[in-house]
Amino acid sequence: MATVKPELQLICDFVNTLEVEDGTDELADGAGLGRWLRTRGLWAGRPDEKDAVWARELREALRELMWVNNGGSADTDAASATIDGASRRAGVVVRFGDGGVRLVAPKGGIGAVVAAAGEAMADGSWQRLKACRADTCRWAFVDAARNHSRRWCSMSVCGNREKARTFRQRQRRVPE
Ligand SMILES: [Zn+2]
Repeated sequence: MATVKPELQLICDFVNTLEVEDGTDELADGAGLGRWLRTRGLWAGRPDEKDAVWARELREALRELMWVNNGGSADTDAASATIDGASRRAGVVVRFGDGGVRLVAPKGGIGAVVAAAGEAMADGSWQRLKACRADTCRWAFVDAARNHSRRWCSMSVCGNREKARTFRQRQRRVPE
């Protein structure tokens, strides 16, 4: 299995700051967002509550698009508009160098996540970022399978849970 690009892992880590199943949220407030950014060396400032609101909006917009990557349906225009707004606020810019192009966030912060997402969309690796098919999970993961066929964050947890559910439904449909 190929190693996952750190930029893709960063996007997943950001989306996974919320445990959908029990609601535990690392970005519940400005202090939490500050901690998350500091531990990744992305920003030394002090985000406020509004920054945390924006970060959570960005996170859920990214999750929506990852859900679409996994066969789900969502309002992609709305999600894109949210990410666009985050990009403008964070001051993400296009830079040219070494014969290529890069998106960078000179101010740091969650702009680094936006820049990583933009680059992934540009180079096609974005399609490998998925939100788990289980409604109660929606965990973000990188699909490293050659044919992009992975649907669950973990076959042993969500995949088996889903298989069991399908099995039960089938059992129920069997006439008495
Ligand atoms: Zn899952």
